[in-house]
Amino acid sequence: KQKERQKLLDAYDLASRMYHFLLKNTEHGREAMDYLKGRGFSDKLIDHFQIGYAPPQWDTLSRQLTKREFPMELMKQGGLLLSRNDGSPYDLFRDRIMFPIWDARGRVVAFGGRILGEGGPKYLNSSESSLFHKSRTLYNFNHARPTIRKSRELVLFEGYVDVIKAWDAGIHNGVATMGTSLTEENAFMMHKNVDRIILCYDGDDAGRAAAYKNLSLLEKSGCEVKVALLPDRMDPDEYIGAHGGERFVREVIHDAVTSLKFKLIYLRKNHILIEDTGRIKYIQEALKLIAPLHSPMEREHYLKELAEEFDQSPETLKQELHQIRLEMQ
Ligand code: ATP
Ligand code: MN
Ligand code: MN
Ligand code: MN
Repeated sequence: KQKERQKLLDAYDLASRMYHFLLKNTEHGREAMDYLKGRGFSDKLIDHFQIGYAPPQWDTLSRQLTKREFPMELMKQGGLLLSRNDGSPYDLFRDRIMFPIWDARGRVVAFGGRILGEGGPKYLNSSESSLFHKSRTLYNFNHARPTIRKSRELVLFEGYVDVIKAWDAGIHNGVATMGTSLTEENAFMMHKNVDRIILCYDGDDAGRAAAYKNLSLLEKSGCEVKVALLPDRMDPDEYIGAHGGERFVREVIHDAVTSLKFKLIYLRKNHILIEDTGRIKYIQEALKLIAPLHSPMEREHYLKELAEEFDQSPETLKQELHQIRLEMQ
């Protein structure tokens, strides 16, 4: 078992070095390199994140692994190769940009493969294996760990590209889960290492819904959570591309809002505020979010904001809040 594990690790290591080499040194790789350069990836970033390229052929990796006498069954079980009906192996990743995914110790245990340009599926991720469990893996945790340890804080992104571009902008405590669904295991693992989490998901409906959903899971694990707000339909990578890394750090990361503030913003978007019923409903739900706050000063702060926004007297809202707090007990 231990020997098999090591063999599979060796195979992933070989594959990542091969893909990286092919990106940098082949004719086919040049197109992929142009794509990456077009998206603002410097040579330094490409090297640091060991980004690679899987050529269009069906046997690039399988030939290498066969030549080096890696056991094919293990390679298939381990998610590196697929199997034809006649049992012969073929490559899972073809004509894709390859992002190696590391375990906490920095060993490659999976890949995320992106197609060049449009089409689908946009990303193909390695299947789970004895080395790779999605619910326990945080992309870039190996690189981010020293900074995370020091600051007791991490920034959680949606995508590999966002983590990489944020790294370039100086955010060295950025990680991503495998997709937007966050598991309790993820949350537990994060809380073991940090006290604060900044959620920096895409500025689209999916990203905001995911942030809203994951907030409570992270808070339940005991972390203080803040949410970085991105303009509509922009993800961190696109923001950095449009406004630069410095502004990203200054205006997106440093200006992340409290989880309550984010919930209020999110709630507001889902109510039709030009109608009285929508406004009243929103105010009631907002008060329900404010009510559980322990600090009277904090309650006062949000209450005042709400009152000002809707031109209500703070006294009326205070009475409502009092009523809700009584009902909560
Ligand atoms: P890019 O900037 O290259 O388009 P992205 O990170 O912005 O990538 P999103 O569509 O925002 O891509 O998706 C965020 C993350 O969700 C990806 O990094 C990937 O991990 C995962 N993901 C996206 N599409 C798929 C897919 N079709 N299958 C599996 N995972 C996916
Ligand atoms: Mn997205
Ligand atoms: Mn995105
Ligand atoms: Mn993107």
